[in-house]
Amino acid sequence: MPASDYAAQRDAMVEHQLQRRGISDPRVLEAMRRVPRERFVLPEFRHEAYSDQALPIACGQTISQPYIVALMTEALQLSGTEKVLEVGTGSGYQAAVLALLARKVVSIERHEELSRRAGRVLQELGLDNVLLVVGDGTKGYPPEAPYDRILVTAAGPEVPPALIEQLAPDGLLVMPVGPPEHQVLRVYRKRGDHLEVEQLCPVRFVPLIPDEQTPPEAEE
Ligand code: SAH
Repeated sequence: MPASDYAAQRDAMVEHQLQRRGISDPRVLEAMRRVPRERFVLPEFRHEAYSDQALPIACGQTISQPYIVALMTEALQLSGTEKVLEVGTGSGYQAAVLALLARKVVSIERHEELSRRAGRVLQELGLDNVLLVVGDGTKGYPPEAPYDRILVTAAGPEVPPALIEQLAPDGLLVMPVGPPEHQVLRVYRKRGDHLEVEQLCPVRFVPLIPDEQTPPEAEE
């Protein structure tokens, strides 16, 4: 499909899936108009790149629905000066959107293969303010801390304590929290040593898996 057809699909996605559902931050809408989602999905799903759903990627993971990417990004209230930590690089699509809206993005992924693929696409797109790290994101990434914003794109029972520690004062953290059938997207703000919390909406994400939960046979 010609690039201009994808651009038209992207514009339609922004209007129908995002603006109609209330995404209004002009910078977020512009970033969603610019990032070529078709480059981050598997070739066999390219024709569905702008459909209103999550899609499978390698390693049994998913690239989130465009609306959820926009909603989480809007909740981070980025002005362009922030350092952002993303846990769960996956395809790299969300990282690309963040890269257009923040000063620097550090993104952690536990599957090396996903991180490598994401790195290739981000490089081809010239997004050089993203640092990709392979590892357990529940531990954060201390060398680059503190982070003005943290986005967790996999669901867990609670916010990992290391992420709270690595969040800057007044920083925002967005994460899907809860058991598989009852996850809620939450926005936390760090005030002193406690967190204020706001609920956004019910969501469905793949699980956040700490290193210690990885079965030995899955480690290869
Ligand atoms: N943000 C991604 C969607 C990610 S799906 C995108 O835009 O495509 C969630 C990702 O979190 C998966 O790739 C999964 O492998 C990863 N993940 C799960 N637990 C993790 C952990 N403890 N540390 C780092 N990544 C993790």
